[in-house]
Amino acid sequence: MPDVEPTPGPITAISTPAPVALPAPSVARPKRGELTFTAPRAGKPPPHLADLDPAERKAAVEGLGHKGFRAKQLSTHYFERLVESPQEMTDLPKSIRADLVARLLPPLLTPIRTLTADNGRTIKSVWRLHDGALVESVLMRYPRRVTICVSSQAGCGMNCPFCATGQEGLTRNMSTAEIVEQIVHAARLLKGGTLDVGDIEADAQSSPLRVSNVVFMGMGEALANYDAAIGAIRRITDPTPDGLGMSARGITMSTVGLVPAIDKLAAEGIPVTLALSLHAPDDKLRDELVPINTRWSVDEAIDAAYRYFTVTGRRVSIEYALIRDMNDQGWRADLLAAKLNARGRGWVHVNPIPLNPTPGSMWTASDPGVEREFVRRLRALGVPTTVRDTRGSDIDGACGQLAAATA
Ligand code: SAH
Repeated sequence: MPDVEPTPGPITAISTPAPVALPAPSVARPKRGELTFTAPRAGKPPPHLADLDPAERKAAVEGLGHKGFRAKQLSTHYFERLVESPQEMTDLPKSIRADLVARLLPPLLTPIRTLTADNGRTIKSVWRLHDGALVESVLMRYPRRVTICVSSQAGCGMNCPFCATGQEGLTRNMSTAEIVEQIVHAARLLKGGTLDVGDIEADAQSSPLRVSNVVFMGMGEALANYDAAIGAIRRITDPTPDGLGMSARGITMSTVGLVPAIDKLAAEGIPVTLALSLHAPDDKLRDELVPINTRWSVDEAIDAAYRYFTVTGRRVSIEYALIRDMNDQGWRADLLAAKLNARGRGWVHVNPIPLNPTPGSMWTASDPGVEREFVRRLRALGVPTTVRDTRGSDIDGACGQLAAATA
């Protein structure tokens, strides 16, 4: 993720459609340490082209009584040309356009709110899904890359006490197409030149007009919604027009450390970057900060991350939110370095994240001097370390602040 320090800018709501009744959070807040793997709601969004692989798309189109090659045409419109409106799909006979679009490209995300920060370079979108569930995505523009942070679940069942999403509980899993739609919306926004906020025009040349990176760091634990997440990764990386044609290297899968799912992901043959949310090098503290640790310990999670590196050759990131007087002691930096170095060198780097404030939490970020010392110790022990940029914290769009139910 980002390693450039942003200049916080004013907060602007660039579109707030007519007020809508926001549903109350549908699930009870989890009890301390409680883990939820099974979503209480099924969701079942309308079927969408992006849920299907190319063979399934052809079958779906034929099932609707149309010629199979129409599937490729629709895929070209959706993934390559990024068009939405049937009028623009002139290679489809007029008589069938609207029907095909209604059945295979139904709108899945309704924009509720769009907030910008960092002079328009960070854009947080709140979306309503077909059943009223709310999710968020954050688009971040940098000089040489554009990163979108996507949600994979409405809420999250992993219950990390310092994360706003975790405190909300799990509402439901998102479908592959609901995940992909967040990226396609962003791609359209960039391509369409509708980003007329802040000084975006001025730096349009230096920031690309296409999405280059996707990070699964929005709401949810994507590896707990494995099939939908892997489907999304395939749609993102499949060459156009079957998919968006992005490089797997630009994708980061962030996880609390679901060990069997990490091993499964390694075996998929898609070398995405793995980020492990460690946050503590010792089980006593990690049991509290990342409750999944009671299932898979620090050592088991680090071993899985190391196996991921050996199988894929991709350097793993260790995420470490620095929380004042909780996990930021020098000895914890030394212990973390020792545990990483014990597995080998050159396979990992550490991303300390200054804790972002969340509602109701007593915890705050570490003092800057303490943060510097933590980083210094890791580096002194040979562990590459970069403090993560916390874009969007002033619009609650930064790591751990996404809680759409209260947006
Ligand atoms: N479920 C995934 C994605 C979570 S969000 C995971 O846990 O990895 C991405 C990162 O932000 C995670 O490392 C998460 O622990 C971290 N994070 C959560 N709340 C935070 C907060 N308040 N401040 C800083 N980072 C936070």
